[in-house]
Amino acid sequence: MARRDYYNVLGVKKASSTDEIKRAFRGLALKYHPDRNPDDVEAERRFREITEAWEVLGDPQKRAQYDRLGGFYKPNGQPPSPDELGEYFTEALGSIFGKRADNQPGEDLRYTLTLELEQVLTGGEHSVTVPRQIRCTRCGGDTADPDGGRKDCEACEGSGKAVGRRLFRQTCARCDGRGFVVVRKCDKCEGSGRHGSEDVLKVKVPAGVATGQKLKVRAKGNEGFGDGTPGDLYVIVNIADHPLFSRRGADLICELPITFAEAALGAEVRVPTLEGATTIRVPAGTSSGKVLRLSGQGLPLPKQQGRRGDLHLQVVVEIPDQLSAEQRAALLGFADLAGADAHPKRAEFDRNVQGRG
Ligand SMILES: [Zn+2]
Ligand SMILES: [Zn+2]
Repeated sequence: MARRDYYNVLGVKKASSTDEIKRAFRGLALKYHPDRNPDDVEAERRFREITEAWEVLGDPQKRAQYDRLGGFYKPNGQPPSPDELGEYFTEALGSIFGKRADNQPGEDLRYTLTLELEQVLTGGEHSVTVPRQIRCTRCGGDTADPDGGRKDCEACEGSGKAVGRRLFRQTCARCDGRGFVVVRKCDKCEGSGRHGSEDVLKVKVPAGVATGQKLKVRAKGNEGFGDGTPGDLYVIVNIADHPLFSRRGADLICELPITFAEAALGAEVRVPTLEGATTIRVPAGTSSGKVLRLSGQGLPLPKQQGRRGDLHLQVVVEIPDQLSAEQRAALLGFADLAGADAHPKRAEFDRNVQGRG
């Protein structure tokens, strides 16, 4: 196993270019070349070391591998064996290399739940079908075919405990402490210990929920490998657009088109609410832009038991753009009758304009 840091051997930096490394190697090789240092054992050792370092760092592919493996790199290109790794494990390295893949926790999952505005009113329990990874139902996650796919570990004779001199490990390096080795993979999970599943899960949605709100369902993400803990499921709420209502916090806004005659004369008008419909009185002389408020007909206020926002009805007076001859005649008759008294704002406007010449 390589022990010397090749970068130190050549006196270069990890970020050095191949050209810089080449120059450093040439200088050192000339200095320690056996022809120049006859019968100098130390110079010969240095020369071999320098050459070995150059053979690795001078080759981009080998260099990349060396950078990845560090002290575990072997000049013959072989990956380190589990035993070799086991020998050099420390607590610090353990957190990087020591975790068995089959004890990894499961991943968190996200799921978008689209609700109708009406469902925001009550909240409640919703069923969602979530595709997720679950621990293999055939092998129980141990990755071996239950039908003769595992065999007692020879190194530890099935105990799972480290045998012989081990500096840092208490568990057998060959079987990772499991006491058995897998000789045939489980075919249901293809030896991964998990497989896909479509699970129907219950999600509690609070009343008054809003788009973008995250609901956490604990432990319902992907299940872990081996003893790994499951991830969580995050349900992201999305409230669908409504044909009548838009939302501002707990308040609802609805456009209310009324006719010119209703606006002038006043009228009883049926208007929608989240639960259905109700009748309101539009007062005579209502202009476009006026807001009629239905108190407590909005959405539930979060964390305020039973209290609700308001429903705002925004009046838009609809002016007909195509009139029959008869309608025109009637309207002209009205225009003759309705002078400045009937339209005080318009009268004042006209006066202001006249004042400007
Ligand atoms: Zn399996
Ligand atoms: Zn073992």
